[in-house]
Amino acid sequence: MTTQRDVNTVWNHCLQIIRENISEQSFGTWFAPIIPLRLTGNTLIIQVPSQFFYEWLEENYVHVFRKALDATIGRDGMLEYSIIVDTGNDKHKPVAVNVPNQKSPQTSSPDRPNADPRKPQIDARRDFDSNELNTYINPNYSFDNFVEGDCNRLARSAGFAVAQRSGVTSFNPLMLYGGVGLGKTHLIQAIGNYIRNNSPQKTVLYVSSEKFTNQFINSIRNNKLQNFTDFYMQVDVLVLDDVQFLSGKEKTQDTFFHIFNHLHQSGKQIIMTSDRAPRDLEGMQDRLLSRFKWGLTADLQQPDFETRIAIIQKKLQSEGIYIDNGVIEYLAHSVNTNVRELEGVVVSLIGQATFLRQEVTLDLAKSILKNIVTREEKAVNIDTIQETVADYFDMNVADLKGKSRRREHVYPRQIAMYMAKELTDLPLKSIGYHFGGRDHSTVIHAIHNVNDLLKEDNDAARETVDKLKGYFK
Ligand code: ADP
Ligand code: MG
Repeated sequence: MTTQRDVNTVWNHCLQIIRENISEQSFGTWFAPIIPLRLTGNTLIIQVPSQFFYEWLEENYVHVFRKALDATIGRDGMLEYSIIVDTGNDKHKPVAVNVPNQKSPQTSSPDRPNADPRKPQIDARRDFDSNELNTYINPNYSFDNFVEGDCNRLARSAGFAVAQRSGVTSFNPLMLYGGVGLGKTHLIQAIGNYIRNNSPQKTVLYVSSEKFTNQFINSIRNNKLQNFTDFYMQVDVLVLDDVQFLSGKEKTQDTFFHIFNHLHQSGKQIIMTSDRAPRDLEGMQDRLLSRFKWGLTADLQQPDFETRIAIIQKKLQSEGIYIDNGVIEYLAHSVNTNVRELEGVVVSLIGQATFLRQEVTLDLAKSILKNIVTREEKAVNIDTIQETVADYFDMNVADLKGKSRRREHVYPRQIAMYMAKELTDLPLKSIGYHFGGRDHSTVIHAIHNVNDLLKEDNDAARETVDKLKGYFK
């Protein structure tokens, strides 16, 4: 049994130790605002005022925390943050999401205590418009094979909280949004799987908004609207994917509105995704939009370099394939649009390697990447940019990327870096990587130089840049 007094005593003791280890100013800024909430077993749960605050602590003070926990709770002491993600208003209480600390080697979040994601799912309830036993939950999507990174941390934590306690957290509805291929469907399917594995008595239904709309239209045509709404009102967890599809569909929205209200009032969980933030959804009724805001909205962003590496590694691991780190790094530097594309490249790489019985080398990776990219409309990528610039200056790509400091090499190189910055959305770090592993400050310097020439109305530079850009239109 732990009491409130315990948590305060423990926390005060922690503060003493922390204070001895950091400056008074840092202490005032980062530790004074923390509120100790609970002590559950050996986990200390502390409330922090924002996501940013949490990230800062994780980034800078993990070791201090570790020291404090060691001295107060012991080596197996753990820390969990309760992050205020919405300060609330008169009507709604503040919303907080709990996450265990990430960086300490001794803590980890158990994803699924006793569930096997590959276990086939059988649900006694029938799909609305067919007699199949199907709830469209794909067992291949789990929290286990979802790679966590800064780009998706809040969405994942909130999703995991909902998975563990569907309908009873304040994240109802849970709305996840973000661009294509960033893991929205994966995450909400993982929530569905988790609930079905751990609470088999609950009916979880996953449906795309498109399918929902089609079923709705058919039900009207067949005079079965009542059946349609009854069907959806009886589920415990409704997972509706890509709600942006309901835009402009007034009647479907009306019906969804009623279903939503019914489920919400009965304490049932609603989970949705959208390709953009709710405030940017056009053609959506205000009354629906305002309900979306009742719960928690979290976005998924493009994965950063480290997360891309982790995703590639996870994929290779699941296929039981080993690829050299240099190749993995090359891929992570080259495909940074979204996870789906990254996965696609890895899959065709594995496929080719198996098919050709060839080891996956950097050259193979490059040639595959080239084929994949040139199949798209605009073949704008780092390789084609380098080739085009080298062609233009009548030199070879090796010199363009090489170490030579001769002016006839340096200038084209700077132009090529500038073009890469202008035409791709590769981060500077990745551009540097593609130019013989230079660091990002070299890239910045190159871009500045070219920009200066353009600003000075240097005709030759202007003409070069315009012509080169012309090749990519
Ligand atoms: P969205 O629904 O946002 O368009 P998906 O959920 O369909 O994207 O994700 C596209 C692909 O990328 C899927 O195969 C998914 O498993 C994978 N994926 C996305 N994010 C991650 C992640 N963080 N970890 C592992 N795989 C991911
Ligand atoms: Mg999707």
